[in-house]
Amino acid sequence: MKSTETFKKQDNNYKSIRVDFHSHTTCSDGHLKPHELIDRASNYQIQQFAITDHDTVAAYPIARQHIIDNNLDIRLISGIEISTLWQNFEIHIVGLDMDVNHSELTALINAQQQAREERAVLMAQKLQKAGFQDCYEQAKQYAQGGTITRAHFARVLLDRGVVNTLQKAFDKYIGKGQRCFVKPLWCSIEQAVSVISAAGGYSVIAHPMKYGLSTKWLRRLIIDFKHSGGHAMEVASPQMNDQQRQLSLALCDEYQLLASVGSDFHYPSRWSDLGKNLSLPVHVDVVWQYWNK
Ligand code: AMP
Ligand code: MN
Ligand code: MN
Ligand code: MN
Repeated sequence: MKSTETFKKQDNNYKSIRVDFHSHTTCSDGHLKPHELIDRASNYQIQQFAITDHDTVAAYPIARQHIIDNNLDIRLISGIEISTLWQNFEIHIVGLDMDVNHSELTALINAQQQAREERAVLMAQKLQKAGFQDCYEQAKQYAQGGTITRAHFARVLLDRGVVNTLQKAFDKYIGKGQRCFVKPLWCSIEQAVSVISAAGGYSVIAHPMKYGLSTKWLRRLIIDFKHSGGHAMEVASPQMNDQQRQLSLALCDEYQLLASVGSDFHYPSRWSDLGKNLSLPVHVDVVWQYWNK
């Protein structure tokens, strides 16, 4: 790959792709319901789309039915974002194009959901010691029966005026190393990849630039992921700068990983939206060419 490549949209070598393989709904910590997210993707003329809620595939049948009922011209790929623990880092593995009813996937989802419940209870106990009562009950209410995440707890602290941004809830209370942080009991990368493969899908390292890993550690992560049978890595998301895009593309090339792209959309904001800024150089070996065949 040439190091001089840039990511300007007007450059003829770059295609603006109408796909998005990383997004969230109210089935986890997204703000739009599955049908609302599908309508948004459809309005943006996204051709191929995946909902990748945290440790659940609950949105998939709802979204699929909505597409059928409204005769929408959008190809929905099944998806999930699995939280894993690797070297004490929480690494997110996206699974795409799986059989959502596969028994191994169902079992893993159940175990992850249980780990989330237990962590939520322990986190609420720590929050109580810090002076904040009934955070579990309120966070559960915000989760509306979907996957409970720290984003729901952050919203509780924001709405109570304890912090004035969601980021501060992580920085002061529930982020790694803070006083109300509880170490989660997620599965390993190996387990996540193995289950995604068993269910016939493709596994993807989500947002590789968001873990605060040095390039040396990122290489270690990729090598372990490859050894586990992992397939792809996200190389474009709205917030990534050109340097990060070039690095992740170069790593894909070096380690022979397929490329995936996704906005990690949670709710409408100034900074990010479905399908935005996901352009790739034309020659890149992309994960979605395989299920297109
Ligand atoms: P969990 O998987 O329960 O640990 O929750 C992680 C979710 O919280 C992520 O998917 C984000 O939506 C959100 N999140 C994580 N870190 C931050 C942060 N620093 N600021 C705002 N939201 C965050
Ligand atoms: Mn999230
Ligand atoms: Mn993530
Ligand atoms: Mn995500």
